[in-house]
Amino acid sequence: MSRPQQITVLGATGSIGLSTLDVIARHPDRYQVFALSGFTRLRELLALCVRHTPRFAVVPEAGAARMLQDDLSAAGLSTRVLVGEEGLCQVSADAEVDAVMAAIVGAAGLRPTLAAVEAGKKILLANKEALVMSGALFMQAVRKSGSVLLPIDSEHNAIFQCMPRDFARGLDAVGVRRILLTASGGPFRQTPLAELAHVSPDQACAHPNWSMGRKISVDSASMMNKGLELIEACWLFDAQPSQVEVVIHPQSVIHSLVDYVDGSVLAQLGNPDMRTPIANALAWPERIDSGVPPLDLFAIARLDFEAPDEERFPCLRLARQAAEAGNSAPAMLNAANEVAVAAFLDGRVRYPEIASIIEDTLNLEPVVAVDDLEAVFTADTKARVLAGQWLSRHGR
Ligand code: NAD
Ligand code: MG
Repeated sequence: MSRPQQITVLGATGSIGLSTLDVIARHPDRYQVFALSGFTRLRELLALCVRHTPRFAVVPEAGAARMLQDDLSAAGLSTRVLVGEEGLCQVSADAEVDAVMAAIVGAAGLRPTLAAVEAGKKILLANKEALVMSGALFMQAVRKSGSVLLPIDSEHNAIFQCMPRDFARGLDAVGVRRILLTASGGPFRQTPLAELAHVSPDQACAHPNWSMGRKISVDSASMMNKGLELIEACWLFDAQPSQVEVVIHPQSVIHSLVDYVDGSVLAQLGNPDMRTPIANALAWPERIDSGVPPLDLFAIARLDFEAPDEERFPCLRLARQAAEAGNSAPAMLNAANEVAVAAFLDGRVRYPEIASIIEDTLNLEPVVAVDDLEAVFTADTKARVLAGQWLSRHGR
């Protein structure tokens, strides 16, 4: 058998990173960990290095790197510790690497993910914010390098599985009418609107079906996650925003659907466990065991669907507007959302104010063209400054 594929896991200490390592560990003949990165939970990163013996580990700064390097040497490991964004880009682009799991949360993942794309790696894309921010440039880089881009987001992985292999010819050419993007509706789907001003970060993070990092959990509660996913779907599948319909499906069993012109609707179903899309993308076009138990349809018994309510979920409306405006709008939407969600998680703003911060930020700044990465980061920084000013104006 050929040598195991070398995998870099960016964001290894997070929810997606850990699920990825769980799948990889089930298939030591196929996959070997090349590099792991962590940002805060560095004790966990050490334990992961001991377990997976990567060639490299990446941490945010030099002091942390020295400590980790000492601990690794004491444990008898030859793992080399690298630092910061430069280290992340290095382990993404290294000639030995076959595939990169992009699982850093937020804008911080953009440069390392693009470094992997430019080096022509197979990209397992969890870090949706990277694609949302830089969509056109990201997809251009994918085409230029010939990188294989595989979606990890469960919905996009489902859509990918329901699309014909040659979907890159265009949705019309392959007979696709619409993409139906499913959403659970999150923990506040039925909460009385008046109570939303008083919900806590822990309530927002208590997702009914999925266990995830805190930022994406808040995004799921506000449905900004679905908004970001709408933009993500447009780039991945070359769709217009009007071709993507959001469907609330509280059981999270159907992970999304593709509607064809002949009336056929293909869906992908499964237990809500990220190891399924991760295993699917890792092994694509083959199939491997992910550790996920088989779906028990009799236990699920019923599947429900409803239309999203934009009064309850204003973030979904804001994201759709940004998708339609294109250019700098999605990067600004994403950055304002990152600031607003961090402030909500810190207890500085109330839950409904997340949408207000984003809307006020987008209204203050005209949409401009983004022709290069610098323009993307300029839009990102502008939105962070404006959202920060919102916080100071409101005494937060
Ligand atoms: P998480 O918060 O659990 O993990 C985030 C990872 O990123 C951690 O390893 C952390 O150390 C690292 N990180 C955070 N800030 C960083 C920075 N500034 N620089 C470098 N590294 C940094 O998040 P998660 O739930 O695993 O989500 C990761 C990504 O995957 C997000 O973009 C999310 O939208 C996407 N995603 C997650 C799920 C899920 O089920 N968790 C599903 C679909 C998509
Ligand atoms: Mg998703």
